[in-house]
Amino acid sequence: MTRRLVFDVVRRAFRPAGGRLTAGVLAILVAGATACDSDRASRAAPLPAGALRGANVLLVTIDTLRADRVGAYGSTRVLTPTLDRLAAEGLRFATAYAHVPLTLPSHASLLTGSYPTRHGVRDNGAFRLDDKLPTLAGALKSSGYRTAAFVGSFVVDARFGLDRGFDLYDDRMLGSSTGLEPVQRNAEQVLAPALDWIVGGSSPQAPSPASPQPPAPGRWFAWVHLYDPHEPYAPPEPYRSRYSSEPYDGEIAFTDAALGSFLNRIRAAAALENTLVVIAADHGESLGEHGERTHGLFAYDATLRVPLIIWAPPRIAAAVFTDPIRLVDVAPTLLDLIGASALANADGRSVRPFAAGEQQFEDPGSYFEALNANLTRSWAPLTGIVQGGHKLIDLPLPEVYDLAADPGEQRNVYASQRDRARDLEARLDRIAAGAAPAAPAAVDAETQNRLRSLGYVVASVERKRNYTAADDPKRLVHLDAALDDAAASWSRGDAARAIGTLQAAVRERPDFTVAYDRLAFMLRGSGRVADAVAVLDEAARAGHADRPLMRSLGAMLRDAGDLARSAAVLEPLVRDDASDLQAADALGQTYARMGRGARAREMFDRVIAASPNAAATWNNVGALSLSENRTAEAVDAFSKAIAINPDLASAYNGLGVAYARLGQTGRAVEQWKKALALRPDFADARYNLERASR
Ligand SMILES: [Zn+2]
Repeated sequence: MTRRLVFDVVRRAFRPAGGRLTAGVLAILVAGATACDSDRASRAAPLPAGALRGANVLLVTIDTLRADRVGAYGSTRVLTPTLDRLAAEGLRFATAYAHVPLTLPSHASLLTGSYPTRHGVRDNGAFRLDDKLPTLAGALKSSGYRTAAFVGSFVVDARFGLDRGFDLYDDRMLGSSTGLEPVQRNAEQVLAPALDWIVGGSSPQAPSPASPQPPAPGRWFAWVHLYDPHEPYAPPEPYRSRYSSEPYDGEIAFTDAALGSFLNRIRAAAALENTLVVIAADHGESLGEHGERTHGLFAYDATLRVPLIIWAPPRIAAAVFTDPIRLVDVAPTLLDLIGASALANADGRSVRPFAAGEQQFEDPGSYFEALNANLTRSWAPLTGIVQGGHKLIDLPLPEVYDLAADPGEQRNVYASQRDRARDLEARLDRIAAGAAPAAPAAVDAETQNRLRSLGYVVASVERKRNYTAADDPKRLVHLDAALDDAAASWSRGDAARAIGTLQAAVRERPDFTVAYDRLAFMLRGSGRVADAVAVLDEAARAGHADRPLMRSLGAMLRDAGDLARSAAVLEPLVRDDASDLQAADALGQTYARMGRGARAREMFDRVIAASPNAAATWNNVGALSLSENRTAEAVDAFSKAIAINPDLASAYNGLGVAYARLGQTGRAVEQWKKALALRPDFADARYNLERASR
């Protein structure tokens, strides 16, 4: 079959299965039926290169949105009228694959058109995008576009390198970073400044280092990243009540509604007419399938398949493209459509010629990997490929699935379809052969030696070359569940149970690095700082420490008052990898406590230079300035922290102290009250407030 544009699928997707179609969806149904008339299904609509020349580009990524939760992809839950409408009016890719079921690496692939084997971002947190790799934002900027990004999670903070090519990178986050959950903000909080930037409205929020400036007239590219469907599933009302038994669905419904009103407001400002809208997800969500609750461990279709829609009527005709497309194909396709030059060395390709019927589709295969458990727990590395309707998952216990016959991936045909398996293995080997090494920020020999002299061995992926069935994540997924159980116990307030669960997990699997980190976090949170240090010490001495764990150890040692050891652990991490801003921030805090103000400032400056919206670091600068009696600087730094993150209780407390020192008691009291409103158990703020009112 050479032409795979199947128009009647549009109509089928809107069959009122749930019987709860809204008026808007019904209207699309009628429009969809009209579009399906005559013989259009038999020929592709013309879509020449540069067909969208001069158009603005709006890229929307919805984090953790499982394809089959979208109505246009067959869901009958009626969660996504906005996406369904875009799909009905636009070009919907029925079979789209991510390359990593993790936020940072997957977005890196989307924004560079490259596999993780090329862009080098193999996991969240410990990797930064290669500075030399061309990006979609950079290409559009070179083509004269104004560029801005508005993101919803710290996971894609500017420090990890996705900001390259954006004039503005709005990564201001809300919430405190003291919990287990990543710091984030919801769809409405991401979309409000994006709308202001796009329609050039009035100044959206309090001034901050990254206050969006309306663009000058001309073409623009905006990326908005909506993090809501990612756990924890906690949609705002009325979605919380409406979806109380399915909070993941509630997050999706909330996100879709927020996106809908965002698009309506862009339309009302007449800014949608010449805009190419692209909707994608970075990965899906397992929801318990194959024993995986969320995402990141396995690479079954529940997390690897994503929705992907390109919308620009009437220049792009409504259609459904059923052949497989990859997230690495998105950037090349967009650049082709707007007539910009292609990204050099991309793994992806423009699928426009196939969609236009100019070329017969051939399937190059889609590479994928899930290395988090390998990098953080030394479980077997998971890589694989989807090609010709079959998926190979290359593990000590290898798997091959016939995706058409077995979409749930329940029947492993690796042993029975040997020729198929060998062909997929050869294809995978060819991609893996050119791969950059999957090494998180390297630890050099001198650093290793210095840490060894302290009694620590920093683990690297080299530590284990031969993986056996015992290292296969399929055999270890119950330990993943232990992490989840511990987190659930912890958030219920059952610290003893949470700690016990993690202690059992590290007894079973002594190289379960992330479990030590969580265990130490919970011990410290229970007031047992010395025990927390002991747990991390033990892991480091046994050679199970990776960079994040050493960072934690350095921070815990500071909390325990052992400042010299804290600095000794953190200094080599900072010196060895200048891009490890979390280590730099931690070391800055240790220096500040040691009274080494100049060194502390140097560390904080480094963080802020790479990540201007690092509210916690601005807060640290404020505290340092207070300790050095640089009160005006403290006011400035705390104010910046609050402008970026209005939920940061400790910044209000610090700002109050600074105002009190300036003799502005009224303003000081106001700040302490705000701190206590955010954190009623904030003892310092309460003490300050009580003392002031005496
Ligand atoms: Zn994600």
